[in-house]
Amino acid sequence: MLRLFRIDSPRKRETTHLEIAHAGAGYRVALKRVTGARRFTLRVRSATRDVVLTMPVRGSLASAREFVERHAAWIGARLDRLPRPVPFEPGETIPLRGVDHRIVHAPGLRGNVWAEHRLTTEAQSWRALCVACEAPHVGRRVTDFLRREARADLEAAVKRHTAAIGVAARRVTVRDTVSRWGSCSATGALNFSWRLILAPPFVLDYLAAHEVAHLSHLNHSPKFWALARKLSPDTDRAEAWLKAHGASLHRFGSSD
Ligand SMILES: [Zn+2]
Repeated sequence: MLRLFRIDSPRKRETTHLEIAHAGAGYRVALKRVTGARRFTLRVRSATRDVVLTMPVRGSLASAREFVERHAAWIGARLDRLPRPVPFEPGETIPLRGVDHRIVHAPGLRGNVWAEHRLTTEAQSWRALCVACEAPHVGRRVTDFLRREARADLEAAVKRHTAAIGVAARRVTVRDTVSRWGSCSATGALNFSWRLILAPPFVLDYLAAHEVAHLSHLNHSPKFWALARKLSPDTDRAEAWLKAHGASLHRFGSSD
């Protein structure tokens, strides 16, 4: 899941897009020319809803378009099966630390974004994520709030885990990463996905422990795993959670 060293291809390959229409829907397909590819391969990535066509370096655009058009129904079916994207808009429900919160626009109130418990007349409680701003800014405010919360939780977890083993992280950054939930550079800089704030706290804490363990072992050796498990007794549970639910965290809000 977490690769330390990315092997980049020696030169950046040209990527273009094809726009196709099928049964009233339009699809944007990224073209990826790959040395050694001998045929066309279509992929729909669930995390980002991207459609990618891998093709031979010398494959023609006309044959690429013909291939994609022939498989347009397949693309549509794959996209339909993906979980519905959930924008950060009033009325939508999003998980915060693994607990569902409904986004409530509170234009008349002071403040920024805050979570609160609410009670219905039937004495049932639900959780609201209240956003006080003008309507067009709700999405931005929610994104900023979640990033701040993610950073605060991750910094606290990193601090706790580094103190436990007597190492220091050089820097903690929070971004919107697609392929990895966290990473650790050779210089000791830790990077995490802000979307971990959507997952239950034991998952975020495990990711922090995992990357902190890399400060001692820049590999996935048995020694590394022993240390990660020592820092996070939830290692196996968190890995299983990410495998089962990780991709679904990408449907919330917009990616940047
Ligand atoms: Zn790792």
